[in-house]
Amino acid sequence: MNSTEFREFGKAAIDLMADYYDSIRTRDVLPSVEPGYLLKMLPESAPEEPENWKDVLKDFNEAIIPGITHWHSPQFHAFYPTAVSYPGIVGGLLSDSLAVIGFSWMSSPACTELEVVTMNWLGKLLGLPEEFLNCSDGPGGGVIQGSASEATLVGLLVAKNKTVHRLMVNDPSLKEGEINAKLVAYTSDQCNSSVEKSGLLGSMKMRLLKSDADGRLRGETLKNAFEEDRAQGLIPCYVIANLGTTGTCAFDPLYELGPVCKEANVWLHVDAAYAGSAFICPEYRVLMKGVEYADSFDFNPHKWMLVNFDCSAMWVKNGYDLINTFDIQRIYLDDVKTNIKIPDYRHWQIPLGRRFRSLKLWTVLRIYGAEGIRSHLRNQISLAQHFAKLVRADDRFLVEPEPSMGLVCFRLKDGDSATRKLLENLTEKKQIYMVAATYRGRYIIRFVVCSHLTTREDIDISWKIIKEEVDMIVTPTLHTKTQIPALGHIDIKSLCEKSK
Ligand code: PLP
Repeated sequence: MNSTEFREFGKAAIDLMADYYDSIRTRDVLPSVEPGYLLKMLPESAPEEPENWKDVLKDFNEAIIPGITHWHSPQFHAFYPTAVSYPGIVGGLLSDSLAVIGFSWMSSPACTELEVVTMNWLGKLLGLPEEFLNCSDGPGGGVIQGSASEATLVGLLVAKNKTVHRLMVNDPSLKEGEINAKLVAYTSDQCNSSVEKSGLLGSMKMRLLKSDADGRLRGETLKNAFEEDRAQGLIPCYVIANLGTTGTCAFDPLYELGPVCKEANVWLHVDAAYAGSAFICPEYRVLMKGVEYADSFDFNPHKWMLVNFDCSAMWVKNGYDLINTFDIQRIYLDDVKTNIKIPDYRHWQIPLGRRFRSLKLWTVLRIYGAEGIRSHLRNQISLAQHFAKLVRADDRFLVEPEPSMGLVCFRLKDGDSATRKLLENLTEKKQIYMVAATYRGRYIIRFVVCSHLTTREDIDISWKIIKEEVDMIVTPTLHTKTQIPALGHIDIKSLCEKSK
């Protein structure tokens, strides 16, 4: 493909995707395909001869789009959001087009330095303590990881390395293997699956401690767990606190967990994957009270902050802890001597290679501005509150726990099986997508305001779809199906014409 065709292909693809977003409300959120549908449609082997880009786009439209779950449909209320925005897409396009690998400063100076700059900007916007910033006097700094899962694992490996070295310095007769076998990590029973997985990957026993009735891990629980383990000869090493749990968006009190970790010399990592974006709005910072005790902090701009996946922002108070864990030298990597202020980011992460992710963050921060991002977050929270009000006005439902950020959990008073049936029926109809959780032993449905396109009218449509299904379950005679227009059609030919 030459640059002329690249221009045509690229312009047509952008037109196609702009039309996709303009018409996203015409599609069911869940696709109507069976497992294996694409395997049947596509050839078994790669083409021998080059094909035309127009045929690729045609097949994208006819084979790929029908198998897409539309994460950015305003009726997508499952999990937590994954971000998309036009500035984020263009930032990603620029990064993909440059296609550099920024494992060291020399391998692409702008790749490293833009990451330093944007992570300082972002850390300041969140109101993180100075110590986490590269622009402070200390050895702190930020790095963009691929996911919150990776950040949790990085924290675990660093905590492990640090603890082993500290104990061996104190008592040189100790063997590394013996210490490793005794290390324990702690989090709450509300943690994300990725947190538990980090224990598996890092070969560290992970205890999921009982959360309180509001889904929060309390300081006293953590302290007792440390004492129990120490009594058995085990060594507390790593704690993962959750700010915004996956199930109900509960916030662990860092001001309770922090002092317990500090006293025990245990690394405290904060997983604020979804809810961390909200700290850009000063009114929510009270929920991270005690963050000064943390050794590492991570949240995902790729969830709620309009930066396309992947972009997980992690800060540490001491970058040398990472370097001491991950620095492995080779002659081909021995280039310009850098320092903690101009990091060789390969020592701050698991892989060697790394993409120019900060371009996405940079474009989003500049094109929205901090105020634009704040107003997006506040708007999404107010839409969740609007939904909660609609649910509360219907006395067949209960909203519980209290809505948190863009998440509203609710259930039918008729009981768990009615709530489960409601969710199953709705999922089968494909017009709206939500998932379940449990709260105080009850089955609940999670409704998250996910799409950045969501308006109040979209929330009203989602509520209408839910309400009509409940009318069928509870009072079967009242049902009229909500009219969602049929699958939209994107005209590839005219797009190809437009791009010329
Ligand atoms: N932590 C929490 C609290 C989450 O809710 C999620 C995903 O929703 C994760 C971690 C995992 O995030 P990632 O997919 O970036 O690894």
